[in-house]
Amino acid sequence: MKARRGLPRNRLIPEKRIYFRPELTHCPDCGTKLKRHHTASHKIVATLKGILDVWNMAYHCPNEACGKLERYFRSAQADALCLKHTSYAYDVLVLVGEMRFKQHMTVTEISEALTQRAIPTSERHAMRLYEWYLTLLRASLTDDVKEDLKKIVKEHGGLLLSMDGVQPEKGNETLYVVREGFSGRILAAKNLKSGSCSELKALLKPVKDLDYPVVGLVSDGQRSIRMAMEETWGDTPYQYCQYHYLKDIAKPVVDLDRKLKTEIKKSLRGIREIEKQVEHESTVEAEVARDYLAATRSLLLEDGTPPLDLPGIRIYENAQAVKASLEQSEAKKGGLHS
Ligand SMILES: [Zn+2]
Repeated sequence: MKARRGLPRNRLIPEKRIYFRPELTHCPDCGTKLKRHHTASHKIVATLKGILDVWNMAYHCPNEACGKLERYFRSAQADALCLKHTSYAYDVLVLVGEMRFKQHMTVTEISEALTQRAIPTSERHAMRLYEWYLTLLRASLTDDVKEDLKKIVKEHGGLLLSMDGVQPEKGNETLYVVREGFSGRILAAKNLKSGSCSELKALLKPVKDLDYPVVGLVSDGQRSIRMAMEETWGDTPYQYCQYHYLKDIAKPVVDLDRKLKTEIKKSLRGIREIEKQVEHESTVEAEVARDYLAATRSLLLEDGTPPLDLPGIRIYENAQAVKASLEQSEAKKGGLHS
């Protein structure tokens, strides 16, 4: 099948930019912290949750003695978003597969359904998405793939394996995809109803049977996936996918931050009174006070983008800066008077 690039770029306007780093943070051979090297890929991806601007950063081990300067790690999570050479996420593909297989929708109906979900798709694209879905389900360990993996092992010391589940809608089947990270090769893909640990282990078994060394395991936080991988490759280091992981741990922090922001706003309510007092004064002090009041006002308008940039924390830090500056000028004033 010819690789096509999906829709013309100008029809996919990204809502969110995400930078992905590799899930492995340290060299599996020497333990040195991995260093950013270049942008491995950058593309616009249409997902059921919105259009994303996805940057995947390649990192490597900078330790020359380790001798693997040209072994680049990329984010398995970013690679897991969509098939190589396409701009549609797996969740879209899986949904298309369901609409065709289960609901027996025509290509015209599929393309309309996708367009309604803010994924502009022509009939031709809907057809292609369906073909990609079928190709994906046929993925297996052919002789070609095995040869490829052998080369990866020789070059990089082992395979970097990842598995994750794609479920376009709750209650539907989940598509599980097993992937090799250095090559981007898909080793297996299967629709499973329950996705139990034993089902997943069965999906991993042909890969395990190759008996190639494995340098790392990567996946999202889903428990059955983690267990299946850990039980199949007992002593290989395991990493969460950072993106899922980040969202999971960030939730309580984001909630606390919202509270902090409310508290700070409450504590600054007296500001209007002070503003009134200095409004019509023309002394230097009143002018300085007005400056500080304006600074305080503007910092209340600050907004961050959680979870990485928290609005409450940001306001708090700015308020601390204003306070420090106020105290400094107080001290100076005191100095002049004495
Ligand atoms: Zn190293």
